[in-house]
Amino acid sequence: MTDYPPELTASEEARLTEVAKDWALAHGLTVRPPPAVIAAEADPRGILATAVPVTLFPSPFPGICFEQGIAVQKAYNELYASISQDEEFLARMVNEIGDSDEFITDLWKIHLRVKEEGYVQHKSLGLFRSDYMVHQDASGSRPQIKQVEFNTIASSFGGLSSQTSQLHKSAARIPHPQLSCTKKSRYLSLTEYPLIENAIPLDTLNLPPNNSAAGLASGIKEAFISYGASTTGHSKCVIFLVQDGERNVFDQKHLEYSLQSSTDPIIPVFRLPFSQIQEHTSLANGARRQLLYTPPHLPTRTFEVAVIYMRSGYGPGDYPDARAWEGRYHLERSAAIKCPSILTQIAGTKKVQQVLATPTIPSNSSILGQYLPSGSSSSASALASTFTNIYPLDTSEAGLRARAIATDPELCKGYVLKPQREGGGNNIYRGAIPPFLKSVPDAHWTSYILMELITPPPVRNTILRNGKLEQGGVICELGIYGTCLWDQQAKTISHNEQVGYLLRTKGDQSEEGGVAAGFGCMDSCTLV
Ligand code: ADP
Ligand code: MG
Ligand code: MG
Repeated sequence: MTDYPPELTASEEARLTEVAKDWALAHGLTVRPPPAVIAAEADPRGILATAVPVTLFPSPFPGICFEQGIAVQKAYNELYASISQDEEFLARMVNEIGDSDEFITDLWKIHLRVKEEGYVQHKSLGLFRSDYMVHQDASGSRPQIKQVEFNTIASSFGGLSSQTSQLHKSAARIPHPQLSCTKKSRYLSLTEYPLIENAIPLDTLNLPPNNSAAGLASGIKEAFISYGASTTGHSKCVIFLVQDGERNVFDQKHLEYSLQSSTDPIIPVFRLPFSQIQEHTSLANGARRQLLYTPPHLPTRTFEVAVIYMRSGYGPGDYPDARAWEGRYHLERSAAIKCPSILTQIAGTKKVQQVLATPTIPSNSSILGQYLPSGSSSSASALASTFTNIYPLDTSEAGLRARAIATDPELCKGYVLKPQREGGGNNIYRGAIPPFLKSVPDAHWTSYILMELITPPPVRNTILRNGKLEQGGVICELGIYGTCLWDQQAKTISHNEQVGYLLRTKGDQSEEGGVAAGFGCMDSCTLV
């Protein structure tokens, strides 16, 4: 596809901009506008939405890599469900991260408090997203995907991603002027005439299906059913635990609407800000500790919470004071199925990813094998083939080598330094690593990991952001979603699915690709 995406004339650009922008607004491919763009006085009631940045065309992505990501997702789900069950291993990870990371230490303290009194809920739900970039070495060998990170909490964009695939696939169809409107199959897409002169026939694009919104919602539904009947006499519900002032709210809404479309069972969904946990929830009297929720708009109604789906609580910003930590403790000790539990949140730290991926003897496949009871050694090696080298900054042999790299102004250029944080904007790149480490006391270095940079082959595309087009080289990051429901005590997995994908794309000059952070944009794959 050398002439892909096609060159556009100025008037074609204007037309495509209009089509994509209107489609995005009409289909909830939206976020709330940033406060800097819309002054509070212009939107006092929060009625405005703005189109999410998107690529005009689906980005070419090696089919072999896409299939590789899809193929390993269930093994990844199983791996992280198993790691979540290995409390001893996670305790070691928290210990290795060290006291300097108060956030991780405080999370662990909550787990220990609940363990002390005994967990009343052993089922645990994971809505995961494994992120990758394409790696191809200079020899021009077969491209492979390499894992950027594995998310176990608040894995976002599943709601917007299936919409983006729709935008690129079919929903921008415009009837061909020479065809009768009844011949729906002959409708033409965004990428075809009559929108642009150098049309790309739809059948030359290979657009994989993407059920991310419905798929993630069905994971929540599984947990809702698996919770069993209410034992308090109140109807069951699902709570989306959210951040105040969340801009990416429509992403979450697509999941919510998908859940609400279930008629058997009916699934009431409520949004609860993290800061209001204690205000609106309580634990039932008695040993079972059912979580009860009274919606502020229905003060006479109470629901028994079956599932807490967390779109908050993943970073220190949500825990400004002791009361916020007590809120998390209150949820953790309740009978609601947590997505995720604290153990699963800790399993998703970059430290765990590093321990799995650090080249060691004996090889990591043996560590992996131990966590994949139902898998064969081939699934362990399939997972290991997605790892890139990641090192600790401790005093082990690998750690000492990493320290030498991270403090060398030349060697550090192929690396990224990561703390145990989520949500983008936390990493230190390349030449900034040595001066950064100089500013950090030596005893705190163990809370970081050092990772080789993945350098994907160049791709071109056009990004539509805030109504303006940005053309040029882009870098794509593929996320594969997975849902998994397991029992911590029985050590059984009752549900394990791969559910759709995310393609996020950023300009090739940007280190971080967060869509919410304003650098990245939504995209979809055309497989090549
Ligand atoms: P977070 O949990 O904050 O999303 P990530 O590990 O995903 O942290 O890093 C954020 C971004 O940094 C990624 O989306 C990617 O753009 C970039 N990045 C992270 N690790 C690498 C890597 N090894 N190679 C290239 N880019 C990376
Ligand atoms: Mg993350
Ligand atoms: Mg990430």
